[in-house]
Amino acid sequence: MKQQLFLGLIAIAVAAILPACGGSSGGSSSSPKNVIFFLGDGMGMTTMTAARIYKAGEDGSLTMDNLPETAFVKTYSNDAQVTDSAPSMAAYMTGIKMNNEVVSMTPDTSAYDKTTLASYVSGADTTCPTTGNGKSVPTLIELAKKSNLATGIVTTTRVTHATPAVTYAHICHRDGENTIAAQLVPNGNGYNSALGDGIDVVLGGGLAYFQPKTTTGSKRTDTRDLVAELQTAGYSVVSKNSELIKVASTQKKLVGLFTSSHMSYDLDRLATSADEPSLAAMTSKAIDVLSANKNGMFLMVEGGRIDHALHETTAKKALQDTVAFDDAIQVAIDKMQAIDPGLKNTLIVVTADHDHTLVLNGYAALTGKTTPTNPGILGLLRSYIDNALTLDVSGNAFTILGFGNGESRLATRTALTDATVAADTYHQEAAIPTALGSETHGGGDVFLGAIGKGAEKFTGVLLNTEIFGLIMGIFNL
Ligand SMILES: [Zn+2]
Repeated sequence: MKQQLFLGLIAIAVAAILPACGGSSGGSSSSPKNVIFFLGDGMGMTTMTAARIYKAGEDGSLTMDNLPETAFVKTYSNDAQVTDSAPSMAAYMTGIKMNNEVVSMTPDTSAYDKTTLASYVSGADTTCPTTGNGKSVPTLIELAKKSNLATGIVTTTRVTHATPAVTYAHICHRDGENTIAAQLVPNGNGYNSALGDGIDVVLGGGLAYFQPKTTTGSKRTDTRDLVAELQTAGYSVVSKNSELIKVASTQKKLVGLFTSSHMSYDLDRLATSADEPSLAAMTSKAIDVLSANKNGMFLMVEGGRIDHALHETTAKKALQDTVAFDDAIQVAIDKMQAIDPGLKNTLIVVTADHDHTLVLNGYAALTGKTTPTNPGILGLLRSYIDNALTLDVSGNAFTILGFGNGESRLATRTALTDATVAADTYHQEAAIPTALGSETHGGGDVFLGAIGKGAEKFTGVLLNTEIFGLIMGIFNL
């Protein structure tokens, strides 16, 4: 009932918007429709603030800070105060609130057997019931395909991970990544036919879910070679940055699977000179290829590992991945301004799917940006009064950044130094102890910024499901 009411409100909102954007110029339907949706996974507002200080100092700014229109987004899911990445992204992509861990299905879909509470997933395979457990709901990418737009997904996670998955797949449990991979491969068993001839550009990690089980490192439990199937379906498949660079913008179908699992954290990519593209490089190539379609494009770009670094309570990695995400936004704005001056037919939206428990502690003096000789916001907390170390009740110094929960909370520890806490692998301390890597999402509202056509419609405090209707209305998809 609640859902019907919501869908009704969306329909009214869309109807109210349509005359304004479709009315006077009869030729508007032939104008390109370009939507680029940026999702910083787990990029809560404290992470954004800390990343700004990390990169540019307190008085500096990120590209995100300069987006002309902003809003706040409420992120709770259909069944949880604190959402996971599947229903939160699905809310943006489908306009429907669904249960935690569900990928683009109706609200009655559960990732767990309601009687036994057993999960419908084992490894990367699912046993989702084929009846009585919800139905698929259309996604923005499917609707963009129906409107003959070029479509793309770019991520630093596995392309089968929750956030990218909800743009193109439908499944009762996000961990069924073998099934999710099959939904991406045109003509193959289990393909999502609502994608027409297939998503045009897919770039990220996760090769293991596309390789037959006979290949070392494969996560598949069958003998299908999805890379070969993609090539048969007309895709050029690349696995290195040096190959991606050479892909011509006339290429129609492109898949890049650069790592077996998730791509490297940006700090590690930079440190090891791996032949992996940056998020900005992938975004740039995706726009080059997709912009050949004169109808326009729908491109989703995820900074997916901000979330992973926060789960690990390694703040430095999270902040660097946030900066890499911000760099990709700048590349997209610059490229689209060149293609579509003034962004008259282009909307770029930047948001996050949920918060984390990162906090900015105490009354720290200004630190300025992080450099090889200045830990900046990663350092120990020093008072604004005299720049002396601030101590806890036990006489211990502590870091400016901490977490609400996480594994690093020692009963006794040696004195921390700036060198220790500014290391790439340092795990910030947390108030509530958890298992290693199990820091949780937070329930706070998240930031949304927008630029370009219709950006002014993104304002106030929005429900995450409202974003879908706004994009649909602005472009009459
Ligand atoms: Zn997430």
